[in-house]
Formats: sequence, C-alpha cells, structure tokens
Amino acid sequence: MGLLSVGTPLAWKDTKKLAEYVKKHGIVQFINLYRKLKNRQRDTLKWGDEIEYTLVYLDHEKKAARLLLKCNEYLPELQEDENNNPGKNTSAWRMEYANYMIEGTPGQPFGGCLTQFNRVEKSMKSRREELERMIQRPNEAIICFASFPRIGCPDFTEPTYEVSPELNPASNSLYYPDAAVYPDHPRFLTLTKNIRSRRGGRQAINIPVFRDEKTPEPFLPATPNDDGQAAKGMKPDHVYMDAMGFGMGCSCLQVTFQACNIDEARLLYDQLAGLGPIMMALSAASPAFQGTLADVDCRWDVIAGSVDDRTPGERGTGPLQEGERLIPKSRYDCIDMYISPCSKDFNDRPILYDKEHKQMLLDEGLDDVLAEHIAHLFIRDPISLFAEKLDLNDEVEVDHFENIQSTNWQSVRFKPPPPNSQIGWRVEFRTIEVQLTDFENAAYVVFVVLLTRVILSYNLNLLIPISKVEENMRRAVKRDAVLNEKFFFRSALNCNKNADEPVEEMSIDEIINGKDGGFPGLISLMKSYIKSMDVDVDTVCTITQYLNLISKRASGELKTPANWMRNFIVNHETYKRDSEVNERIMYDLAVKCDSISRELVGCPELFGNPKTKSANVTLPRCEKVKQEVESITEKILQQQELD
Ligand code: ADP
Ligand code: MG
Ligand code: MG
Ligand code: MG
Ligand code: MG
Repeated sequence: MGLLSVGTPLAWKDTKKLAEYVKKHGIVQFINLYRKLKNRQRDTLKWGDEIEYTLVYLDHEKKAARLLLKCNEYLPELQEDENNNPGKNTSAWRMEYANYMIEGTPGQPFGGCLTQFNRVEKSMKSRREELERMIQRPNEAIICFASFPRIGCPDFTEPTYEVSPELNPASNSLYYPDAAVYPDHPRFLTLTKNIRSRRGGRQAINIPVFRDEKTPEPFLPATPNDDGQAAKGMKPDHVYMDAMGFGMGCSCLQVTFQACNIDEARLLYDQLAGLGPIMMALSAASPAFQGTLADVDCRWDVIAGSVDDRTPGERGTGPLQEGERLIPKSRYDCIDMYISPCSKDFNDRPILYDKEHKQMLLDEGLDDVLAEHIAHLFIRDPISLFAEKLDLNDEVEVDHFENIQSTNWQSVRFKPPPPNSQIGWRVEFRTIEVQLTDFENAAYVVFVVLLTRVILSYNLNLLIPISKVEENMRRAVKRDAVLNEKFFFRSALNCNKNADEPVEEMSIDEIINGKDGGFPGLISLMKSYIKSMDVDVDTVCTITQYLNLISKRASGELKTPANWMRNFIVNHETYKRDSEVNERIMYDLAVKCDSISRELVGCPELFGNPKTKSANVTLPRCEKVKQEVESITEKILQQQELD
C-alpha cells in the first residue's frame, strides 16, 4: 500500500507542525512533474492487477484457522527474482499493512493486444505457485479472503497475542494486536498511531449486525479492557471495530491502466468511477467481521472507517477547532469529483480545497478541474513522515506529493508518471473485492479492462452526477445488493456529455445483461466490440468464460463469494443462529476455501464449471453450462470463421 520510503518516523505532534510545509512542496512537486509530462503522448495500453493474498494457519488438531504472521519471513525470498532479474521477473511482491498479507502483481504489465487476456490467469497461477513453494503445508495455506471473518476475535493470529490498549501502543486496540501489523517497515505502525492521534482517539467502526433468530437483543460486543472509549464509540446491534487493522487488514483486487495521454487518463478516471459501486456489489466477498455475520457484504465501510483520521470537529461530532472545517468523508472513500473538463457538469458536490493551493496550480496553467482535484487531495494532512525525507529536491523528487496522493485511498486513482520512468499517465480501479480463485480474479480484471476498451472505442458516456455515484456506493455494500438493490445508471450511453440526460435506477442484472426493449447491457456491448476485432478463437473462449461468470453473478444464477460464505456459515452444524462465526466454522470455511482456490474441488454455485485454457479446472463441464457457453460463443466463433 502506497509510498514505501524508509527513515525515522515522526510522531503526529511533529508531523502536524510540518503538514503545511509538506503540502506546499507536494504541490510544487506535482507542478514540476506536470510541466514535464503534460504533453506526453502516444503511450500504449499497459495494465496490471494487484492481488492481496492472505496467509492462513490451519490448526488441524484444534480445528482452528488463524492469520499467519509470516509475510516478513517470506517476502525477501519472494522478491529474489525481481532483484536478480529486474525487468524480466515473473511476479512482483510487496509488503502490505498486515503481516499476514502480501501483495502480488505480474512482474511486467500486460500489453494492449487482446491475446494478453490469456496471460492473466496464468500469471495469477504462477504467483500462487510461488507462494505455495514458500509455505509449509499442511498447516499453512494461502487464501484470498477479502476479509477474514474472525479478524479481531481472541487468538485470531498465529502466533497468538494478548491484546489490550497498553500492549498496543500504536493502535490502542482492544482487539487487534500491533504485532499483526507488518513489522519490518515503519510506515504501517506510524500510520496506525498517527491516524489515531490525529483523530483524537481510536476508530469507532460500526457495521450493522445480521440479525438471526437467536442473535442477542440488543447485540452488544464484548469490550475487554475498555478504557471507556469503546463504551462511547459502539452502537447497539452493530459489529464494533476499533483499529486500522480491521480495514487495512482486508484485501482487495486492483487494476491499473496506462492511458495514451493525460486527457485519456482523466476521461477513464471519470468513466470508471461510476463502475466502482457496480463492480463492488458484483464481487462482494465480505459477509462477516470480527466473528459476526454482518448485514453488509463488502468491506468498504470498514476500511473507510479504519483510516478515518478526521478530528471530531471535522467529522461533525464535536466543536470545530481553529483552522478546521467540516470534511464529509474519510480519506478512504468514493471520489468526490470527476476530473475531465467535460465532466464538470456532473460534479454536484461541494469540493473542499485551500484557495492558496488551487491558485498555485492555476498559476502554472492547470485547468480549473485538475487544479481542484489536486488541491482537494491536499485537504488531507500527511500522516506518516520520516525525518530524513523532509528536505527534498522538488525538481526531481515527488515523495511529498506521493505522501498525500497515496493516503487518499479513493475508489479510483489518477496516477501521474513517476519521474524519470518510461511509465505514462495511469488510472487505478480500486473497488473490487478479491475473489478466492485465479479464475474469478482474472474474470473481474479482464471484464474491467475490456470495458475500458469499449468505452474508449465507442466513445460511451457512463457519467451520472457524482452524488448518485456516492449513493450507489452506499447501496453496493448491502447484503445481496447484487440481487436486491437498484443503482443509478445511464440508459443512454451515447457520448453526449450533457448532465440533463436521463439517469435510471437499474438492477445489476439490467446493467450487465440488459433489459428487454431498453438498455442493451454492458456485456452485449463488449461482445459486439470483440466481434468487431480480429480476435483468435482461444482468446474469444477465454473472454467468454469470464464474461459468463460476470453475467451469471449479475443475474443471480451464480452466487457472490459473500452470499456463498454466508450460506456456508449459517448451514454449518455448529452455527447457533446467533450470527456468530465460531472457530470451528472458521476452520471448516478456511479448509473449504483452500481446496477451492487450489482447484482440488470445484464450486459450481460460485463460478460454474469453467474451463479456461490456462486454468484447466479438472471437473467435467455439466451439460447445461456447456450449452450456454456454446450458444454464447457460437455466433462469435462463426463470425471468426467467416472472416
Ligand atoms: P500501487 O501504487 O497501486 O500499489 P503497484 O505498483 O503495486 O501500484 O501495481 C500497479 C499495477 O500496475 C501492477 O499490476 C503493474 O504490473 C501495473 N503496471 C506497471 N507498469 C505499468 C504501466 N506502465 N502502465 C500500467 N500499469 C502498469
Ligand atoms: Mg495493496
Ligand atoms: Mg501495489
Ligand atoms: Mg498499493
Ligand atoms: Mg494499488
């Protein structure tokens, strides 16, 4: 996660004094970068995914599954290939917030040719193999949990730790030990401590509990060793979480695209923003937190709350102190504005920024919208500073810019080229929940990449007022949103950038699969795009399997991981209808997820019986799925043959 400069970390009281200094220099650094790179042209499409993997310890004797704190041991060896063969490495590995998490990306980005879609799942497979070679079976496993259901329960880590505010100087948490945070880089504990200090107390994340027959009324979580903050912060009938690790210790799937120039990057940023909530609901994989079933299916609100560093005044729960203003959202959340000049009319939310910051950018010739976007990022204070990294050469270094940029964790991110690199202007799509299998992860990634091609080729316009995107985000996290919620979406996808165009409320099924006599659905647009391209049969087959997964998740024919896991939990023989995910359920769920992700068993309810070329899932395809796959590919294949 983000900028990984090293040095002596500063406490919040010192960081605070330097905040304005860092911001000014950060903006100057962006300006210098912009000046050099604003006219950069003709970059080709390059793109790549990031998957966050979870290390799980399976205690087969006690029948318990815990989070294994060992990534710092495994990381150096995983990075050897990259260190020895830079530019040629198969995979790239990065530390993450928790010591049970590790981030893997392809060693090199994928290219623009559609045949590259055949490589995605292979790359994910080889990442999994690299991890498999590290771990010690049979007790260690790698499972892509978007959120491990028992984070924060007693003994949820391996090794286990006692937890209390005194034992956790960084987080002060009652539940999440500082020892679970990645230990070998100062960034993570510093962020933890400074976010809490800036906020003026521990986080108070309250997620509605899923009420079952025997769920206690009111549902009130245990608050061991409470110093009074928990009693104040928790809401009845909610799962209560009090530390950064509850959110930043969850895992996501991200995709970064290189655009041909800055204008295309801005356009893509805007178009992808509206897809954020749709893809989140479609990928929902987080039904339980802290050992309790929740009434949400996604991790988003937990992670937003987990790094919410706003003071009581800023978040509207206390009096404003001098120099403060109300800030509507956490620094982790949905974006507040579109950034292309022609999207301006859809920015119907007030944008906070310091006039002076915006003026610095305008003076350098930035247009109003981009100046506002950058200035808006800079309403956030730096929360992690290193003593050795304060006095920088703003002509060549960008650490102060990246410091603010990389702690604005929003649904999409506009990434400028790093200085002195071959890399162009990029956009990152950040809302997808990580899936259990390589097949599913590849499907979501390919779906989004393909959609960007369709948007650009057909000059589509998905923009809706930004307030409606925010509302969609709120709906997307709800339990079974994919089946039950409606989302604001444009029925006329033409390139007309007029904010008066009609916005409808549609189900995800209608958005993805279309509706009779109305909106054609994103998948049919993607299929006609593929048809219009000269694509080989292999690639068409690969893509078709991915589109099928998304289509069936949208229609409800296949389950989201959240729905599937929730079912697994409530149907477990030890489940007491009290919303609790006990240790035994967690163990059985982990064992099951492990076998599914290693393709030792299938899971037709979750993803059918796919047979992607690279995956070769060994199960026989059932007749029904086979027929469907064939009927969908038939036309495209015939077309190919005719050509
Ligand atoms: P982050 O800052 O979001 O953590 P990472 O470097 O971890 O970024 O991952 C970004 C992704 O972008 C990786 O999948 C990587 O392969 C991919 N990538 C690398 N170079 C480019 C490029 N020039 N254009 C687009 N994507 C790229
Ligand atoms: Mg990451
Ligand atoms: Mg990364
Ligand atoms: Mg990151
Ligand atoms: Mg990223």
